[in-house]
Amino acid sequence: MVSRVIPVDPFDLVIFGGTGDLARRKILPGLFRRYCAGQMPDDARVIGAARSEIARDGYREMVAEAIREFGGGPACEDGTLDAFLERLEYVAIDARGEAGWTELQALMAASDRVEAYYFSVAPSLFGDLAERLQSYGMADDAARIVVEKPFGRDLASARELNRTLAKYFHETQIYRIDHYLGKETVQNLMAVRFGNMLFEPLWNSQYVDHIQITVAETVGVGGRGEYYDKSGAMRDMVQNHLMQLLCLIAMEPPARFDPDAVRDEKLKVIRALEPVEPHHIVRGQYEAEPGDEENHPDYRTAVGNPRSRTESFIALKTHVANWRWAGTPFYLRTGKRMVARSSEISVIFKDTPHSIFGEEAGRHRNVLSIRLQPNEGITLGVTIKEPGPGGMRLIDVPLDMTFADALGPEGGESVDAYERLVMDVIRGNQTLFMRGDEVEAAWGWTDPIIEGWTKRGEAPKPYASHSEGPDASEQMMARDHRKWRKVEP
Ligand code: NAD
Repeated sequence: MVSRVIPVDPFDLVIFGGTGDLARRKILPGLFRRYCAGQMPDDARVIGAARSEIARDGYREMVAEAIREFGGGPACEDGTLDAFLERLEYVAIDARGEAGWTELQALMAASDRVEAYYFSVAPSLFGDLAERLQSYGMADDAARIVVEKPFGRDLASARELNRTLAKYFHETQIYRIDHYLGKETVQNLMAVRFGNMLFEPLWNSQYVDHIQITVAETVGVGGRGEYYDKSGAMRDMVQNHLMQLLCLIAMEPPARFDPDAVRDEKLKVIRALEPVEPHHIVRGQYEAEPGDEENHPDYRTAVGNPRSRTESFIALKTHVANWRWAGTPFYLRTGKRMVARSSEISVIFKDTPHSIFGEEAGRHRNVLSIRLQPNEGITLGVTIKEPGPGGMRLIDVPLDMTFADALGPEGGESVDAYERLVMDVIRGNQTLFMRGDEVEAAWGWTDPIIEGWTKRGEAPKPYASHSEGPDASEQMMARDHRKWRKVEP
């Protein structure tokens, strides 16, 4: 299968924070891969804008190194890297002062193409950037801005940020990134649900027993300790990534696959989420790795806060209070230093109402698993007869649609989430970006949960490194006569 690459229109992309970690690891290597794939037009320009006083050649060298280190992807023809580097400019700029702005203005003055400004800087600088883009005449109607998470740390700060950006840009110009939405499988989830007759009739509380969403990481907080300790798993992962996944699973079919039709449906899901009862929340903090405490210390040591009450793990149960989902629980779980790196959504269907094979055949359930990482793909567990003699014994086997296997090496070309999303910005397609009201509604649901455990003075429970989280998380499921699915690589 040959993958189809449709080139985007010529563009100028300014990356504020163009020397930062995110730009070097994700955005620039992603752009290079799109360039190799022939999607980025030859005359597109990428303009790094950051605090460091480096010359254009120095910046090109830095980007070349980043691409060599993080580039990955299919091999490019010789000379492509040099041609890509030719597309790069650099401006030393201060978001909080006037340095560099006239220079950027001059570079952009010649632009009659798509203009995008990627705010890959701390959110505290978003307002300064937006204001200066306007005062230097770059915030015209054609401009698009891309903002990174975290988008606020509660409802009040998210509202404030939305208000600030809205002073300078229309909602249709603002692209709030949640890179989970750029993952191939996440879009495939919509294709599976709304492109097949098979699943949608069963996609409700009559047939679905419950839904599990797990995002497990093996890494600890690493160098982000100070930031992470002010945030925690609820703010860092649940409020954005897990809730977005929940929305895509639970939403009604939109009338069209267009940005506002999709986002309207997601918003309805968030607004229908029930508050979470205290006994339906388990929070945890990882312990040190036995025998390697120095390299892999416990959470509190890693963040340098011996009294920290921030969670590196959370599991919770919620309900979507509407006709489709009344009575079907949604279990969400995410944590650091868990046994495997795995992101998976599982739709667990109900038992058959009556087993014609008798009790000895056991009870079997269909499970539709959507794996986001690693090995993106979808598996449907079906029950069949165990082959061979000896009567009617039933076993569960997977109908496996691992994309790399199903589509072959070319059709299965994996496009990194950032690559896809940056190209969507250039195309002007907001479907996979969060709208301001969605973000606010998500904080509106998370705020009382966080306030609740803060008021109750609850400390997170310790859990062993490389485990599935605190025992209390399994116990929460056991009380409902259910089990978490195993976290497997
Ligand atoms: P970083 O600290 O590595 O880089 C920050 C960049 O901002 C640098 O290029 C720096 O020069 C620039 N900068 C700082 N102050 C400035 C100023 N006054 N004027 C102009 N430029 C200034 O940060 P990062 O890890 O690249 O993260 C950038 C943003 O992306 C943050 O909001 C972060 O939360 C978000 N984010 C990062 C990641 C990641 O994997 N690194 C993932 C998701 C979201």
